[in-house]
Amino acid sequence: SYKSQQMALTAWERTRNREQISYGKRTNLPMKEQRESLPVFGMRQQLIEAVEKNKFLVIVGETGSGKTTQITQYLDEEGFSAHGMIGCTQPRRVAAVSVAKRVAEEMGCRVGEDVGYTIRFEDETSPKTRIKYMTDGMLQVEALMDQLMTKYSVILLDEAHERTIATDVLFALLKNAALKRSDLKVIVTSATLDAEKFSSYFMDCPIIQIPGKTFPVDVLYSQTPQMDYIESALDTVMEIHINEGPGDILVFLTGQEEIDTCCEILYERVKTLGDSIQQLLVLPVYSALPSEIQSKIFEPTPDGCRKVIFATNIAETSITIDGIYYVVDPGFSKINTYNPHIGMEQLVVSPISQAQANQRKGRAGRTGPGKCFRLYTESAFRNEMLPNTIPEIQRQNLSHTILMLKAMGINDLLHFEFMDPPPRGSMFSALEDLYNLQALEENGALTKLGKQMSLFPMEPALSKTLIASVSNNCSEEIAIIISMLSVQNVFYRPKDKQQDADNKKVRFHHPYGDHLTLLNVYKRWKENNYSKAFCTNNYLHERHLRRAKDVMTQLISIFKKLHLPIVSCYGDLDLVRKTLVSGFFKNAAKRDSQVGYKTISDGTSVSIHPSSALFGKDHEYVIYHSLVLTSREYMSHVTAIDPQWLVQSAPHFYKVAGADSENRKRAKIAPLHNKFSRDQDSWRLSSIRQTKEK
Ligand code: ADP
Ligand code: MG
Repeated sequence: SYKSQQMALTAWERTRNREQISYGKRTNLPMKEQRESLPVFGMRQQLIEAVEKNKFLVIVGETGSGKTTQITQYLDEEGFSAHGMIGCTQPRRVAAVSVAKRVAEEMGCRVGEDVGYTIRFEDETSPKTRIKYMTDGMLQVEALMDQLMTKYSVILLDEAHERTIATDVLFALLKNAALKRSDLKVIVTSATLDAEKFSSYFMDCPIIQIPGKTFPVDVLYSQTPQMDYIESALDTVMEIHINEGPGDILVFLTGQEEIDTCCEILYERVKTLGDSIQQLLVLPVYSALPSEIQSKIFEPTPDGCRKVIFATNIAETSITIDGIYYVVDPGFSKINTYNPHIGMEQLVVSPISQAQANQRKGRAGRTGPGKCFRLYTESAFRNEMLPNTIPEIQRQNLSHTILMLKAMGINDLLHFEFMDPPPRGSMFSALEDLYNLQALEENGALTKLGKQMSLFPMEPALSKTLIASVSNNCSEEIAIIISMLSVQNVFYRPKDKQQDADNKKVRFHHPYGDHLTLLNVYKRWKENNYSKAFCTNNYLHERHLRRAKDVMTQLISIFKKLHLPIVSCYGDLDLVRKTLVSGFFKNAAKRDSQVGYKTISDGTSVSIHPSSALFGKDHEYVIYHSLVLTSREYMSHVTAIDPQWLVQSAPHFYKVAGADSENRKRAKIAPLHNKFSRDQDSWRLSSIRQTKEK
């Protein structure tokens, strides 16, 4: 069902190519030779000179050319780290950890010594650290304390083409810092050709192109649109495995669940193939994967075997896997999108851009000529996909970002030097969110609470909840709940033991909902000395719980730094629920006999997610942590509340409507929106105007 869009190489040519390559598999070379075989090595001198001569530099190169792992080491070898660290940002946590480990290995040290990394809730650096990898979000946090980045001599903004919000904010912050500091160098690297745009933003700085050695890739489009891209991806993998020459396969999927499912299904299918066909190793790659499994994807495929890797778009540019000859591209990725209708962010499976499709295709041509199977039509590629991915800053909720900028003393948001400014509407709604959370004054100035909130690396509703928990004497419980909310689902349901797993889960259920259920799980695990057996017996992911424990440790250390006490409410769980309301009052819903529930702020119909402890229960008022959009809008992590708490903790947001004093029960909670938005328009404009006049 595929038609070749390019002249295919003859079978003979292809075989010869493969053989040549298999003699000198780079991954089997000693470290020094491996390093010197990378395209970037030939540019070493030119790169060093360019960094010496220029404040800003843009570097463009194919994925896998050695930008991330090598340039930092060259700079270190040339003595740049003598007056400050060499920092390198990554949009993704996994990439930051994986490259730091790789570079430590190349330099013959342990991670955390000469080479380290920092990601949210994890700091593997020491005073010895000279090369530091980190997520762009973490460097943005550092800017809160030190806008001039005095700890650094060179900062590489890596993977700039990803255009995450944090990278976009850092563009402006680092440009400013480097213009003020004569000894700071800023390097921007990109895998794609938006280099001109970066260069003109950074004072028309030079662009260095790293010549990539790439091989032609045949593109094969699906002739008809595919109804089920998972099914069609699995079929394509089998087709390649049975009919095509040697070489590993990379399949792009949208998320962990999809990837795990595909791995399971394929594993079963492969078993039925028998011995006449070579072995197929099935491997997953996504951010939440434990690092032991992740490192497996970098191991060379054993002789006589083929490897198939199911990956999220992390494998587009941030990590490079050698030996891929076949790419299967369904054309989708999961992106975080702000939905102004419900005022929340949602992970939505969306079509990728042409630029992303071409990146994916390129993964097949690194070791030899390859093939890319696009599970969509050529017309869809040309007419339906956008040429480039929309920068995050133009589609996501900005409240956390704006809170950070305000905390840095940057009030003039309209004149902040964004490369592509966010839409004004989303800046206003972020300001409004922050105002509602009492992080901003009416005139847009940061409140004391807002200042404190900015020091927590999480969305404002969560930091508000944490801070409110202190005065409500339940900071221990809230910190546990927030730690549990920040990790992947701790419950698992093996296919053959679903009933048993569900029975065990119900024992943790709290009658008032999921937040307290999570608290139960954590406390019981703690009572059982954080034991593995407890997890196994109760169908809990030990790894996710351990991570929650790490997050808890980090939260405690932030509390200490801010001189906030960790106190327990000793079972007075109403305090906990009240505190949750003070951060999440906006996410309140009221029962509706017709549709299940309706959100109070704008009347959207929502349902309780079937996995919730409150599923099938009839509480009148609830709050939820997030909305999950599948066949309908589901509330996930739901807790029953007393409606009076809404008005108490957000009198500026809710009022008691139709409160006839005879029957308190009839009193309805209504959003203040109508009156509010009018008022707010004025403060919004005045705060913007004020800052403009400065
Ligand atoms: P770029 O940043 O230009 O995409 P990298 O510096 O990340 O390239 O990677 C260069 C090479 O280093 C890759 O082609 C790969 O062979 C190797 N490499 C990178 N990370 C790892 C790792 N974690 N394990 C093994 N090899 C790796
Ligand atoms: Mg890289």
